[in-house]
Formats: sequence, C-alpha cells, structure tokens
Amino acid sequence: MNISQIRSHFPQLQEKLYGQALVYLDNAATSLRLDSAVEKWDQMSLRFNSNLHRAVHYTAAKATEEFEGARKAVAEFLNADSREIVFTSGATQSLNLLAFCIGESGLLKEGDEILIAESEHHSDIVPWQMLAQRKGLKIKTIPVLDSGEIRMDILPSLIGSKTRICCVAQVSNVLGIVNPVKEIARICHAAGCLLSVDGAQAVQHLKLDVKDLDCDFYSFSAHKMYAAPGVGVLYGRAELLEQLPPYQGGGEMIESVKWSGSSYAGIPHRFEAGTQNISGVPAIKPAIEFLNSLFEDKESADYQLDIKNYLLSELQKIEGLRLFGIPQDASNKIPLFSFCVEGAHHEDLALILDKMGIALRSGQMCAEPLMDRFAVSGMLRASFAPYNSMEEAKYFIECLRKAILMLK
Ligand code: PMP
Repeated sequence: MNISQIRSHFPQLQEKLYGQALVYLDNAATSLRLDSAVEKWDQMSLRFNSNLHRAVHYTAAKATEEFEGARKAVAEFLNADSREIVFTSGATQSLNLLAFCIGESGLLKEGDEILIAESEHHSDIVPWQMLAQRKGLKIKTIPVLDSGEIRMDILPSLIGSKTRICCVAQVSNVLGIVNPVKEIARICHAAGCLLSVDGAQAVQHLKLDVKDLDCDFYSFSAHKMYAAPGVGVLYGRAELLEQLPPYQGGGEMIESVKWSGSSYAGIPHRFEAGTQNISGVPAIKPAIEFLNSLFEDKESADYQLDIKNYLLSELQKIEGLRLFGIPQDASNKIPLFSFCVEGAHHEDLALILDKMGIALRSGQMCAEPLMDRFAVSGMLRASFAPYNSMEEAKYFIECLRKAILMLK
C-alpha cells in the first residue's frame, strides 16, 4: 500500500483544523480509527446487538460468534491460545487486573519484591504500588541510562531471591525505545521471576510473538491500534492464568452460584464479569487484519523508516532542542519523539503548533518518575503512525522551527 492508500482508510485525516488539514501526531495517546473497524462497530451496534454467551436466539449467537472470533484473532496475532486472551477495558485495566489477581493468588507473599522499569507509564506503576501497600511488598526500580535504554548491565543483580515479578514496557510511551524484552525474559526466568510486559506502545509497531518473547503476561489497548476505545487485552500464559483467582464477581464469570458459595468459570471467562463490550471487541479483528497487512508491506515499512530517520536527524539539528530516547541502534526506536526546547515551554509550543494544525502531546505523559529522572517538568511528544506522510513530517519540522523562533 502506498501512503495515499493507507490514508484513505482513516476518514479523520480529511478534517480541517483552523482552515488547514489536520496533522495528527498524537498517535501514542490514541490512534485514529480505521474505517473497517468503525464499520464492524456500527454493524455490531446497529444490526447484531445482543448480549453474549447467554440466550439461544440467532442474534445472541451471532454477537457471541463475533466476540469469540475477535478473541481467536487476537490469539493468532500474539501467537497464543484463545484461552490465554482476557478482554478488558484497556491496558490500564489489564495491568490492574493482573496486579490485583496475582496479589490474591498466593504467588506473592509479604516481603517479596516487584521490579519495575524507571521508564514505565503510571498504569504500570500505580497498580503495583497499590498492591505493594496492601500486601506488604517492596517495589524496586530498574534505572535507565541517559540514552533512555534500560540498565541491562545491572538487571541480573536487581533480581534477588524475593523478586517475584518484573514489569517492563516493550516500548516506552515517552522514549519510543524498544526494550530487549526477550533478553529480559531470559534473565528473569533464570532467576525464577515472572515477566509482565506492557505492550500498549508496541503492538501497533512491532510484529508480535509472545512465545518467542517468552513473557508471562502482555497487556495492550485496542484504541492505540486503530480499533475501538474501551477495549483492552491481557494475555497470560495458561498455566499462570489458571492459578489466578477472579478479578470481579458477577454474571458470566461463574460456574455455579449457591447461597452456600459460588464456583468460578475457567479461563479466560473467569476474568470477564458482567456484560462485555459487545460492539467494541469485534472491531479489533479488522484492525488486526490491517496491521498484519502493514507488517508485510515493504513499501510502507521503507516509507516509515525514511520518516523516522528524517525526524531523528532534523530534530537533532535544532539548536537548544533536547531529544529523549536515542538508542545506540536507531532500529530499536519507533517513530515517537519526545523533546524539550531550551527557553520555550512545552505547553506554549504545543499551543502554537495546534494553531498550525498540528496535534501533539505536551506534559508529563503519565510518566512522572521518568520526568524526574531527566529533571524536566514535561516534554513535547510527536508520535507518528503509518498514515503520517513525509510531507507532514517536513511541515512539522518547519512549524516547530517557526514556533521556537516566536518564543525566543
Ligand atoms: N502503558 C503505556 C506504555 C501507555 O502508553 C498507555 C497509554 N498512554 C497505557 C499503558 C495505558 O493505556 P490505556 O490508557 O489505554 O489504558
């Protein structure tokens, strides 16, 4: 697919902002919606709306088939089994579910440690802090280098006999660096420690195989991969999910309910209490099909690489601009660029760029500990998707230069 063909699938790109074409560079916050994902959402809402897994009528069976079909599509996408795919409301809920259930499972006991990378999103910090507080656990952190890369040199020494789980993003939402998850899994498992990977910024950029990565848990959100908001996934290795108790109680997560006590459904339904996202979940399947076609598309991959290399080079030419997340090997970075400009506040720059039609993120980006690590109050972030063109990249650099001049 060439860039115009890709762009034709995202109707929001036709929007005008202040009389000019929208240049959407806030994809790490949420991506634009894919036409076929919205069509599936509409179809489920307007034609096949019915509750799942319950009634015997035609529409209920159709809605259930679409929902479970989406689970199968996600399982294939990750190279996992359908039983290992739990639907949630987003990566945040996936991580909260995991932290809560593992805390109740008996796999962790008072005094045990949880190891978390310094570059994590709040969603991969706070649920673990809450668990640590409830269960008397200790949180330890894996520091990052000035480049933003994880301190792999000291990782083995950070995993002690009490370290039960390590939590790392495959790609940081601030640095855009692809962390060496496979190597982290090897180190963790050699020390008897589990690995949970936050894949919220990875699934839309990297072809995934959870068996090859060898992680124990993997979380992500559908809304960052062109599908519906309010849908997320928690992958867990079957033998581990089997050991976790339910997250919430309610309909559909049970086997039997008696006044004398209830028993619970098997995995994954045990973790999906109540009415699920009937229309939103099936929309993930067309998004996966689209992503798979992009992963196999050399023309698109080459085009995106040109854009990434152009931005990496142009941003570093701007005087006073400090770019965060520059790995030794540029292939370990997705097209996501966070930076600060000396003498120009990130919020002011973001406001000026908005008036030029460019949407990007400014602030702490839900990663306050990382802001502290780099001693900054916030950053500006431009995050690209495969529908962003080279013309947009050039326009962004030109506007950024103008905005900086205005503030100096
Ligand atoms: N982890 C990372 C790395 C993220 O970028 C985000 C979203 N900004 C999340 C977790 C949380 O995702 P959501 O808000 O969709 O639950």
